[in-house]
Amino acid sequence: SQTVYPFGGNAKSDDPRAKDKTIVGGKGANLAEMAEIGLPVPPGFTITTEECLDYLEHGADPSTELRAGFAEKLRHDVTSALGHIEATVGKRLGDKDDPLLVSVRSGAAISMPGMMDTVLNLGLNDETVEGLAQVSGDERFAWDSYRRFIQMYSDVVLGIDHGLFEEALEIAKEDKDLYADTEMSAEEWKELVAEYKQIAADERGGEPFPQDVTEQLWGAIRAVFDSWDSERAKIYRRLNDIPHDMGTAVNVQAMVFGNMGDTSATGVAFTRDPATGEKSYYGEFLINAQGEDVVAGIRTPQYLTKAAREAAGADKPSMEEAMPEAYAELARVFDLLEQHYRDMQDIEFTVERGHLWMLQTRTGKRTAKAALKLAVDMADEGLIDEKTAILRVDPMALDQLLHPTLDPDAPRDVLTTGLPASPGAAAGKIVLDADTAEQWAGRGESVILVRVETSPEDIHGMHAATGILTARGGMTSHAAVVARGMGRPCVSGASAVVIDRAKRLLKIGSRDLKEGDLITLDGAKGQVMAGEVATIEPELAGDFGTLMEWADKHRRMRVRTNAETPNDCRMARQFGAEGIGLCRTEHMFFDAGRISAVREMILADDENGRRAALDKLLPEQRKDFHEIFEVMKGLSCTIRLLDPPLHEFLPHGDAEFEDLAATTGHSVEHLKRRAGELHEFNPMLGHRGCRLGITYPEIYEMQARAIFEAACDVKAASGEAPLPEVMIPLVVTRRELEILRALVERVAGDVFGEKGTVVDYLVGTMIELPRAALMAGEIAEEARFFSFGTNDLTQTTLGVSRDDASRFLGPYVDRGIFARDPFVSLDIDGVGQLVTMAAERGRATRGDIKLGICGEHGGDPASIRFCEETGLDYVSASPYRVPIARLAAAQASL
Ligand code: ADP
Ligand code: MG
Ligand code: MG
Repeated sequence: SQTVYPFGGNAKSDDPRAKDKTIVGGKGANLAEMAEIGLPVPPGFTITTEECLDYLEHGADPSTELRAGFAEKLRHDVTSALGHIEATVGKRLGDKDDPLLVSVRSGAAISMPGMMDTVLNLGLNDETVEGLAQVSGDERFAWDSYRRFIQMYSDVVLGIDHGLFEEALEIAKEDKDLYADTEMSAEEWKELVAEYKQIAADERGGEPFPQDVTEQLWGAIRAVFDSWDSERAKIYRRLNDIPHDMGTAVNVQAMVFGNMGDTSATGVAFTRDPATGEKSYYGEFLINAQGEDVVAGIRTPQYLTKAAREAAGADKPSMEEAMPEAYAELARVFDLLEQHYRDMQDIEFTVERGHLWMLQTRTGKRTAKAALKLAVDMADEGLIDEKTAILRVDPMALDQLLHPTLDPDAPRDVLTTGLPASPGAAAGKIVLDADTAEQWAGRGESVILVRVETSPEDIHGMHAATGILTARGGMTSHAAVVARGMGRPCVSGASAVVIDRAKRLLKIGSRDLKEGDLITLDGAKGQVMAGEVATIEPELAGDFGTLMEWADKHRRMRVRTNAETPNDCRMARQFGAEGIGLCRTEHMFFDAGRISAVREMILADDENGRRAALDKLLPEQRKDFHEIFEVMKGLSCTIRLLDPPLHEFLPHGDAEFEDLAATTGHSVEHLKRRAGELHEFNPMLGHRGCRLGITYPEIYEMQARAIFEAACDVKAASGEAPLPEVMIPLVVTRRELEILRALVERVAGDVFGEKGTVVDYLVGTMIELPRAALMAGEIAEEARFFSFGTNDLTQTTLGVSRDDASRFLGPYVDRGIFARDPFVSLDIDGVGQLVTMAAERGRATRGDIKLGICGEHGGDPASIRFCEETGLDYVSASPYRVPIARLAAAQASL
């Protein structure tokens, strides 16, 4: 197979490898493609990635003679491909009268900063520079090109510090009182070139700067090959999951010159605005400049369009104004490129004496907002179809769009910066504990909960708050995880925050604040600001709404939400949730005003004591469900009966025991003894889930009653009932479920009798322990549905506690032991097998068993793809993840 592929001129190839990015790299493939569709591309050739790998394996010995490392065939092929360029341009490399100059450019299949920098103007030496001056009739241009070449080649190929050259240039300009490079005359460049050559020779121990143009060419090719194995390239690949065995291609291309005076220029552009997605040409250019001068910040670049220049109030003319003909040609090229690639392109171009040349195109990077607009606009324009539009948007990128954001133009008085634990912006009054947060929020105030760190007892306060700020804790602290789940902006680990709870004061750095003072959080940046910074609400209609509509049309799986408050349910429905996949009832037990009844129940000596306490809780639970069902009527609602370890509800500290003693009439000693009896060594694997339901059936009876009474009441009031799916947690045997299903059915029968009405409901279980997955066939005899609780299933399958994993999970992921954090993205190879097996066994027993997932993974696109492949009926995600799940589910179906 070919080692080298020519492009441009009359080069044409039917060989698919000529446009295969893995063979000729992204840059090479697109140069060949642009040339083929008739765009002006300077001729050149591309050496394949295979040759790079071959060289690195066999020839990469710096001690060998320069060309010794290259295969004979490659040497031959490069020489004949160079002939292609020479014939097309009508100049020869090294010709002292009319020299060909080339650029040598690296180009891997995946664009990689950290690879070799491009060498421009290769082919110049002390003789050819004179020839170039002659034929161009522009001495200044020739010597400018030569000094650029010496600096680039010295830096990139010879490894000489480019700072030495920059310093010499600075001094030269200072001596002559010049400001811009463009003010340097031919003579002045000539002097500088002499200095540059001296620097190069000094740095090479007296060996002069290479004058042999063939040696220059192979030196540059070799430097590109070697750069694949450079430290910075390796690090970049590691960080971005790019395999190390791909190699880079090398592009050798005839030079075109943007530095030939005022009718020449160089520029970069996007075919549409990459920040907003607006359909307007976007970019910058510089007159009389070369290569990356535009991005190097040496001079201020000029705008492409007149409109952009006017909008920015800039003086210097736009390209549209300064070079109308080249601009018109560029605009034509933009449209051709979009028609051809059917996506927004990021391009590099040069104008040589009024003539436009294309030097690169690739798919343009874009913000989430732009991605959405581009996908919808291009589908509307007929450039792409709906399915392609759906596939164009990264579901995770939607996250940025769903939260209110701070007005970028509003001033910020930044108090401190912590960790960006959960995105979004929130402004509100400082509150220092969860109960206060709930009270103030109850009277309609926006509050920011500020804590040293949060614990499960703060959940109600976190719910009530619009944002959360903690002084301690990392990105996976309780506050961070819960806040992300709830979609609350959160800044964690802001160590400058010092709280004095007794005095209701806090200090942030040197600033004194008090409870009730206004602050604003920027969860995406981790900033804490004084006062209220104006926010912008997310736009759920418009392009977002359109794309979501298309996604809904193309997805098979349903999308539900994990929610336990009416507010979250409403929000989730706005985001398109089609039911509840997980309502965790224990969160309701932590609410202020209820916790004492819960404690009373737990510490009761006998069933009667428990029932007395449960009687107080029943109306509260019924109210909870009533509110949720109102929002969710007509939809399936999976409600998990009480699950957490009991110790989470026990009183802490003397004050709480004394309070409880006062309400129950028991002595503090008695209560403390009871609490001691309930102590567990490993509560996560202890008395929780259905084990509670088996031993204290009255708890589940109360919950079932609350559910069915609320469902009947909602039906009576509105004519429409929800479809409760009562979920029994932590089941490992068929028998557990048999007992508890009977209990739920008995309560349902009682309630329906009392209310004189019935509602449809299902009883099923969570599959969250390996034994349950193994026994799924049997368990399905009692279960109408399975919901995969993949959080616990991951913990118990891997034997890894989520709360304690942070110390080793990072290193495990860095070293490739786990591909990704298994609590974020489902361990498909391991845990996935259990899910697949349980789904199959469940279906074998009960053909119409409903299957869903309710772990965090329900909002992760890779895990959602797995769920689609496994044929689950739905995924469930926290409210803010619902749109992500809708889009990911659609992508998985396509
Ligand atoms: P990168 O991959 O870092 O973008 P490139 O290989 O695209 O590097 O080269 C950088 C710049 O050098 C290009 O944007 C272009 O301005 C200039 N350049 C490269 N090849 C040529 C050429 N043949 N003629 C003129 N300029 C060139
Ligand atoms: Mg670059
Ligand atoms: Mg480039």
